[in-house]
Amino acid sequence: MIELLWLLLPVAAASGWWAARRSDRGRAGAGGRDSDYFKGLNYLIDDKSDQAIEVFTRMADVDRDTAEIHLALGNLFRRRGEVDRAIHIHGDLIARTHLTADQRRRALLELGEDYLRAGLFDRAETLFLELMEQPDYMALAVSRLIYIFQQEKDWRQAIAFCDRLERIGGESKRKETAHFCCELAEEAHRQQNDPEAKRWLAEALERDPGCTRASLLLGRFAMRAGDHRSAIEAFQVVERQDRGYLSEAIAALGQCFGALDRLDEWVRYLRAVQEQDHGGRITDALAEGLLKQKGEEAALQFLDRELRDYPTLLGLRRLVEIKLGRREGANYADLKALHCISTQMLNSAARYRCANCGFIVKSLHWCCPSCQNWSTIKPIPDLVMKSDG
Ligand SMILES: [Zn+2]
Repeated sequence: MIELLWLLLPVAAASGWWAARRSDRGRAGAGGRDSDYFKGLNYLIDDKSDQAIEVFTRMADVDRDTAEIHLALGNLFRRRGEVDRAIHIHGDLIARTHLTADQRRRALLELGEDYLRAGLFDRAETLFLELMEQPDYMALAVSRLIYIFQQEKDWRQAIAFCDRLERIGGESKRKETAHFCCELAEEAHRQQNDPEAKRWLAEALERDPGCTRASLLLGRFAMRAGDHRSAIEAFQVVERQDRGYLSEAIAALGQCFGALDRLDEWVRYLRAVQEQDHGGRITDALAEGLLKQKGEEAALQFLDRELRDYPTLLGLRRLVEIKLGRREGANYADLKALHCISTQMLNSAARYRCANCGFIVKSLHWCCPSCQNWSTIKPIPDLVMKSDG
């Protein structure tokens, strides 16, 4: 609790409260307020925050300057995770009639943040909708409402409020709204309404032509409908949008080319991709394609050459797998051990990493659970982290 006190002192000083205290000295009634103030501080020092809050709240009845301290005190409680207390302080402030209009708006904002932290989204929504009517707080309130609609998975409202924020703040929300359209497309697909799903994906690409998620979904939906040609077209767009996500389409692309009996074309495509991308997933796919197309020798020659210049764990495991398949030589037991170790490493490896905050996950999240940014989590090329040096 002592750190709360030291954090509060600069707030009190900045708010002019100290100055007011000093100039009040000698005036009638000031002694009583000073006494209350120090009583409140003593409660804080003694870790009796309930009594401290009670004293400070009582002071707010007679002195509007202390509203600043209550705002800060509430925020500090929220930061410490004591959301109930923050709600109590900010809620009590709002109920006071003596607040200036700006103090009331700020208390509303802080109470809204408290509700968000507590997961009380409906209450937070009501407050931010009220705050949105205030020109100075409009952009902030709209951005918090967008966050709420995302948490509630109300994607239509999230899109509407993103468009609104673009109009008032000039901040582009194209990337985010494209993802919200993809969410709606997935919803429609789950309800077996593919025409609507396609409409949402078209809107996603209209909003953000670089939306790889929309292309991946178009490919998957086409594949499930048995339309392998359309699926290939959609998946190949991913490479032009953001090559970092192509590995997400590689397995499905291979299946589509295989279903159409176009193996030669598949290998040609992978060779072209590999000129730009020597990641483990592409190397592994190309080795597999060569194995099917030309046999073990061609695949081994390719891997031998490739792994010298661009060593990857996925490529190494493929090499060991092919050699194990031949069951030749006295090295069989060594190869078996190597295969086992590389498989264990790959199975326990992180597959995705957020380019913004470094958060590491095993499955692809389009919105980073840590920093809440969209499209920042990307596949790690070899499933294994390499040092930058
Ligand atoms: Zn992140």
